[in-house]
Amino acid sequence: MKLPAIVWHYLRVKYLQRFSTVEELQTWQQRQLGRFFRQVGSKSPFYAQHCTDFSLADFARLPIIEKQQMMEHFDNLNTVGIRKEAAFQLALQAEESRDFAPTIGSITVGLSSGTSGSRGLFLVSPAERYEWAGTMLAKTLPFGLGRTERIALFLRAGSNLYDTTRSRRIQFEFFDLLTPIENQIERLNFYQPTILAAPPSVLRMLAESQALKIRPETIFSVAEVLDPLDAGFISGFFQRPIGQIYQCTEGFLGVTCPQGTIHLNEDLVFVEKEFLDQEKTRFNPVITDFRRRSQPIIRYRMNDILTIRPEPCPCGSVFQGIEKIEGRCDDVCLFQGKSGGLVKVFPDFLTRAVMAAAAGIQEYTIVQTLAGELEISFRTDSGTPSEMEQLITAKIQQLCDKLQANLPCLHFVPHVPHRGAGKLKRVECRIAKKGTPQYLPSRPLLF
Ligand SMILES: [Zn+2]
Repeated sequence: MKLPAIVWHYLRVKYLQRFSTVEELQTWQQRQLGRFFRQVGSKSPFYAQHCTDFSLADFARLPIIEKQQMMEHFDNLNTVGIRKEAAFQLALQAEESRDFAPTIGSITVGLSSGTSGSRGLFLVSPAERYEWAGTMLAKTLPFGLGRTERIALFLRAGSNLYDTTRSRRIQFEFFDLLTPIENQIERLNFYQPTILAAPPSVLRMLAESQALKIRPETIFSVAEVLDPLDAGFISGFFQRPIGQIYQCTEGFLGVTCPQGTIHLNEDLVFVEKEFLDQEKTRFNPVITDFRRRSQPIIRYRMNDILTIRPEPCPCGSVFQGIEKIEGRCDDVCLFQGKSGGLVKVFPDFLTRAVMAAAAGIQEYTIVQTLAGELEISFRTDSGTPSEMEQLITAKIQQLCDKLQANLPCLHFVPHVPHRGAGKLKRVECRIAKKGTPQYLPSRPLLF
């Protein structure tokens, strides 16, 4: 049964669900949401109280939740009666044994990455797996199902989610991020993937390896923020543009189109925007995934900062275009304002300052560990370290002038190349922030 189901979802997403105007998409989304609440919301004890006689006008009154509430109410939120303790135990066992087949009944249990204590659990039924697989193939296979593809996927933890997709034409090979990259190269050379999907830090390590002999036609960055410096380097090595798959525990949220724009998957998720700046260019997505049934994702606030692409994409898609996925809200740095108070410095501001400082900068990291201080490391192939430090300082000073902020104390430290399974962050803020970020009023709802 599974192959026909996958192919059906593939065809539905690729050919049947086409929208020529934003209005058409919005009308369709409203229908999907109504149906979703009647069929799924009513089965979740947490949402059932809101779902009797649910009308779309009630939607805006539903609570906006984050990962913490999602985990707190896990038992009541899911519609398949799985308890948090049992799910955690199973997922941890699977991770330790690197055997990702176990399920509770037929439900796959997965763990999202994150520091211990903030890891999320996700539940997926077989039907949802087939739907996910068909959708993923429809949105990422460059030449459709008609061609044989060998997909190499680098993941921190596997899941039987990916085994779902294995077939004669479409082959999947899972590369464990916990295995040192040097030990994977031979297997990768033998496998000769046509599609390579990996975090940018891994793509970079592969591109730097002298022993790598693969020529993938399609390359996707997953799981980490794709820094423009890394994108340029990886793309230059493979002689291919780098696409991005914006997929996380909470759903498959976006993917790069053939024109190179990331589009939100508005045929899978309804996205509300909570703007983070006065210009209304950056927002936190609040998502409602009307495909998830075992563990409903309803008005769920993601911590990511997305930047809107202001102009329409030449590909003609009506789905919201995204200029960049900039990082997590937690990584917004805070500088002292010239007239008191704190000034928010988005990760992208710092990335651009470093990139503008000198063309020879190969890699960098910026970490704010204390208020009023930044720790900066970089690797360069031109200029002396002190020249580079001066150039970077000058650019950050310019940024501060523009933002009306005082220049923090800059500490330059030796650059340590990123290795291992941890997530690479080029810009990181480690200051504990009090309270929730200040959001501007979200855009008016559709209904
Ligand atoms: Zn496009």
